[in-house]
Amino acid sequence: TDDALYCIGCGAKLQTTDPKAAGYLPASSLAKADAGEDIYCQRCFRLRHYNEIAPVELTDDDFLRLLNKIGESDALIVNVVDIFDFNGSVIPGLHRFVGDNPVILVGNKADVLPKSINERRVTNWLTQAAHAQGLRPVATLLTSAKKGRNLDDLLALIEQYREHRDVYVVGVTNTGKSTLINRIIKDENGMGDLITTSRFPGTTLDRIQIPLADGHFLIDTPGIIHRHQMAHYVNPKDLQLVAPTKPIRPTVFQLNAGQTLFFAGLARFDYLRGPKAGFTVYADNQLLLHRTKLANADAFYEKHRGDLLSPPRAEDLATFPPLARFEFTPKEKSDLVIAGLGWVVVPAGAMVAGYAPEGVDVLLRKALI
Ligand code: GDP
Repeated sequence: TDDALYCIGCGAKLQTTDPKAAGYLPASSLAKADAGEDIYCQRCFRLRHYNEIAPVELTDDDFLRLLNKIGESDALIVNVVDIFDFNGSVIPGLHRFVGDNPVILVGNKADVLPKSINERRVTNWLTQAAHAQGLRPVATLLTSAKKGRNLDDLLALIEQYREHRDVYVVGVTNTGKSTLINRIIKDENGMGDLITTSRFPGTTLDRIQIPLADGHFLIDTPGIIHRHQMAHYVNPKDLQLVAPTKPIRPTVFQLNAGQTLFFAGLARFDYLRGPKAGFTVYADNQLLLHRTKLANADAFYEKHRGDLLSPPRAEDLATFPPLARFEFTPKEKSDLVIAGLGWVVVPAGAMVAGYAPEGVDVLLRKALI
């Protein structure tokens, strides 16, 4: 016989080893349960008692299956991305899976944008970046799940486009999707008309269904893991350096050709050719920016990564990937973007190079500011 226990909420096989996988509950809670008692996994427990959604991670195959299911249904899709890491938060091929379903693109973490930025420009850039991926959102909106900004607008857009259909919320991990949904569920004013509180949200292995007033559902899908996010290469203790929590402030460096800027040991910027010029850097205010000579930069990095140039921490060097190099000479004023970390404003005609851990994107976009 099978002695395995199953969560009575979502049906997942209970396990005590992987907090991020389905069916987890702490060994102590399992031990406390009396024989024959109904047991919830931690995720269902938190949902029932605190109306709080905990993320669960799926394998790529399961996620593909889920996306296919979404494509086959008649629904509104809400895709949450991190505006500091668009390339690290797009779902590859999403446009093929959504079929004819409308997509609302939500650029989250707007609270971290520098004060001087024009949000319309960010929205336009985000829409264009989506187009470049083949995704054609019916609307693009910036939000801050953390500060509760623009959530009313988001709910209004959802009501406008869902036309009495289900709503699937999709996104890769670390975009703030859980924070956003928790905020929506708990925000009594905004959600008052949309979500019916008469029924508990239901869970299944791969989704959480929040009942809406008209009998349809807002469905939270598990976040897929995007392995090439900067966040995966950084010690959790240093995460606030790559995922800023306060509005980022620009720092201006007057650089001559032949100078290098290190972003701690995580990334690097070389000024290769052009006249002396000001380069504005947008990155977390706490992140070390270190200027040195290009000619010595390789040796300097070799010697100092893990100590002066930290993060990465010394104990993480063994698993930290080498930096990959990308060269650009923009024709107009542009941002050299180091995905998930920040960007450097590069004047037209300057020849520069950007470096990031292998797998993390370095790209050029028209200057946002
Ligand atoms: P999920 O994996 O997409 O569900 O993301 P989470 O909701 O767990 O959030 C990932 C990280 O981003 C957490 O450290 C959050 O505190 C942070 N975060 C979420 N939303 C925001 C936001 O609007 N602004 C900022 N600055 N951080 C956010």
